[in-house]
Amino acid sequence: MDIPRIFTISESAHRIHNPFTPENLATLGAALRLEPGARLLDLGSGSGEMLCTWARDHGITGLGVDMSRLFAGQAKRRAEELGVAGRVEFVHGDAAGYVAAEKVDVAACIGATWIGGGVAGTIELLAKSLRPGGIILVGEPYWLRLPPTEDVARGCDAGSISEFLVLPDLLASFGDLGYDVVEMVLAGREGWDRYEAAKWLTMRRWLDANPDDDFAKEVRERLTLEPERYAAYTREYLGWGVFALMAR
Ligand code: SAH
Repeated sequence: MDIPRIFTISESAHRIHNPFTPENLATLGAALRLEPGARLLDLGSGSGEMLCTWARDHGITGLGVDMSRLFAGQAKRRAEELGVAGRVEFVHGDAAGYVAAEKVDVAACIGATWIGGGVAGTIELLAKSLRPGGIILVGEPYWLRLPPTEDVARGCDAGSISEFLVLPDLLASFGDLGYDVVEMVLAGREGWDRYEAAKWLTMRRWLDANPDDDFAKEVRERLTLEPERYAAYTREYLGWGVFALMAR
């Protein structure tokens, strides 16, 4: 069981697999006013940077579940490196349908809402692990401005325009699901550039080291097209943020 190989190649050097900078992640951790000992669940925890740095900075404890063997392994090593391996745990597995044995104070899914079949389904899934009064964190893209055509939406790697909402509509949609939006931290362009452009050097290095790999043609094609695609589409049209929600 694993995720498509293109991600474990292009994002193998990422600590944060989304357009947040380390500063954005720290801002969010502080904004949530986490108490030492608070328990977090993170579905699609990637390389574990959120749980590991928040364990170091705020004394939280947590469990992360991720379907990438590579990323889950990196998360464990990061926890050891930051001296928080006793407080955070990472498991390799499918988070679809995952419910924590013990209710948590914060239940998160950051940039992986397909795990619950979309934003609404993911919130419903996270709610099953949450203590009454707890906080749900959802990381999700939104349109900075609506793409003029479906082709532009696809250029942003969206299936269609309807896959994402503009920010006011996304915020309203949380209300429609019965949640207050109690905090949000939005990524900026610099964060997007870090997330996307860092893939290019990783892909180039991988190509240089693996010229005869079956996958080299696909990675080469991507590296050739990605900078221009990103600059023309994603960078112009797509925003991204993490939204903190509490049930009304
Ligand atoms: N939240 C992390 C990772 C976001 S990238 C961060 O912000 O850094 C999306 C992550 O979802 C990847 O790590 C990928 O391996 C993971 N993933 C994809 N499908 C999954 C599934 N069904 N169950 C658990 N993790 C999954």
